[in-house]
Amino acid sequence: MILEKPPTFPTPALLKNSALAGMSMLLSRVTRKQVLLGMPVMLMVEPGTACQLRCPHCPTGRGDLSRQAGRLSFDNFRKIWDTIKPAPVRLQLWNQGEPLTNPDTPKIIRYAARSGSWVVMATNVELLAKKELAEEIVASGLYEVVLSLDGASDNSHIAYREGGDFSKVETGIRNLVEAKKRLKLKYPLLTWQFIMFRHNLHEMTKAKQLAKKWGVDRIQFKTAQLEDLSKDEGEKWLPDSPKLRRYKFNGDNWLLKRRERFFCDRLFSTAVILWDGTVVPCCFDKDGSYPMGNALENTFPEVWHSKDYHKFRSEWIKGNRPEMCDNCTEGLRGLYF
Ligand code: SF4
Repeated sequence: MILEKPPTFPTPALLKNSALAGMSMLLSRVTRKQVLLGMPVMLMVEPGTACQLRCPHCPTGRGDLSRQAGRLSFDNFRKIWDTIKPAPVRLQLWNQGEPLTNPDTPKIIRYAARSGSWVVMATNVELLAKKELAEEIVASGLYEVVLSLDGASDNSHIAYREGGDFSKVETGIRNLVEAKKRLKLKYPLLTWQFIMFRHNLHEMTKAKQLAKKWGVDRIQFKTAQLEDLSKDEGEKWLPDSPKLRRYKFNGDNWLLKRRERFFCDRLFSTAVILWDGTVVPCCFDKDGSYPMGNALENTFPEVWHSKDYHKFRSEWIKGNRPEMCDNCTEGLRGLYF
């Protein structure tokens, strides 16, 4: 197996594009008009919609994703990726679904890493219980793996990650750590992302100890996002402490703790490409309800500068925001604890 290593520092072209994207955000904010100077600094690409778990606040897990299910082939990824110049500084390989259910994911990582991008993948880890796959992923040039694991015992893990298996997750993490040691690699960084729910808070200290014992590089405690903001769902899942949740209760429903005036930087610096090439503005558009174009039918730069995308950004600035913006993280403080 050929060892691929992630880039250690962005190339001058990638840095220049980051500066242009930063200026786009700033100028659009200040002038309240759309200014688009560069390509996205961060792209999210969806490897596929399949997942073996049934998390209750995930549209895939609940089985109510209304768009067509499928997965991105390596050839289609390459077709899209080759049009994006310069490549984004960061490529996030996830959206709906578990990335490792797509057998082309390691090849996709390898190809993207060679362009100089930091490739990051989020996973529920279970499929990495297969040693060969864990080694293939570690050797692919991946910069970081986000390990989605919400508890330090089987009971608390499967309370939300329905259908999950804590022992497989543990084996998967150990396989990653061992593969890194065997191949003498510092990367991928292993980041444990622990979503704080009412039922797992008592395991936060134990999780830190486990992270150390297993050799995980860092652990992040993140507030939970709920799809259903009804009184009952909030009471079922959200912690009592306001510091540990992103919502407040208004007497009827749960609402984001966010000031009314905020700006969406993502529209000028990031984009999401679904498995079938559809480009949507952000990961909160889970059903692909706001397609800006298709990066397989046109090139990604054509879509990024398309009339539909321009109109969406301009309308957003004027205050005509879609409903999905009410439950998103833009302008939100206190995402992590
Ligand atoms: S949901 Fe709205 S505000 Fe949030 S990132 Fe998407 S477009 Fe921007």
